[in-house]
Amino acid sequence: MSAAARVLVLGTGTSHGVPMIGCECDTCHSTDPRDRRSRASIYIQIEGGPSVLVDTTPDLRMQALAHGVKRVDAIVYTHSHADHIMGLDEVRRFNVLQKSAIPCYGDERTLEDLRRIYAYAFSPDTPHGGGIPQVVTARVAGEFCIGAARFIPIPLMHGSRTILGYRVGSFAYLTDCSGIPDASWPLLSGVRTVILDALRERPHPTHLSLDQALGVVQRLAPQRALFTHMCHDLPHAATCARLPSGVELAYDGLTFEIDL
Ligand SMILES: [Zn+2]
Ligand SMILES: [Zn+2]
Ligand SMILES: [Zn+2]
Repeated sequence: MSAAARVLVLGTGTSHGVPMIGCECDTCHSTDPRDRRSRASIYIQIEGGPSVLVDTTPDLRMQALAHGVKRVDAIVYTHSHADHIMGLDEVRRFNVLQKSAIPCYGDERTLEDLRRIYAYAFSPDTPHGGGIPQVVTARVAGEFCIGAARFIPIPLMHGSRTILGYRVGSFAYLTDCSGIPDASWPLLSGVRTVILDALRERPHPTHLSLDQALGVVQRLAPQRALFTHMCHDLPHAATCARLPSGVELAYDGLTFEIDL
């Protein structure tokens, strides 16, 4: 019997979040809770095993409080843009609760950026009295396992930069993506649930537009496609109403099961 995991979508917003500071648009003033999008992140609870956080957003503290996240056994990074890493300091609470350091998986560039931006957390000279995040870096150079879950890195184009999506069993998380390189398509073969970047209607240099994302979904043919990293141009209810069946906008707090 194959193992299972539960995915909790912690955040579905673009780097500014929705609502945006100082914006008067209808989405930013919507009363639909699905139009409140914190920065993009997911949490994977492996059945009977470890729990994995994908990215540490600037909203991590409020995401953990909102959804009762009390444990993080590992962090897996997609890339080092600010909206995906600037909550790393919040993991101090998990260090205290778990009494252990947390492994952080990422590609070489992401880990280099973490060591530079969070120099105090990696310097042996930092006095520990004030509390610093205790993390251990783990360079992703191919597939790796966390408990029963095998993580397959999926190289994605994010503008001119190559970043990582991840496949875990029948599920793939592909945030911050403007294109999927030819070599990555076979890695996604047979995926049944996908979370995919869809920023807005208009094209953007570093993110898929809604139409481009629908094109990826058509080629991938998953059972269920959920869009993420949306800006305020895409109100939840009105956008979902015109998407094909099996395709939806994700929202903060959405959960679903996956096979490993
Ligand atoms: Zn982002
Ligand atoms: Zn707005
Ligand atoms: Zn990014």
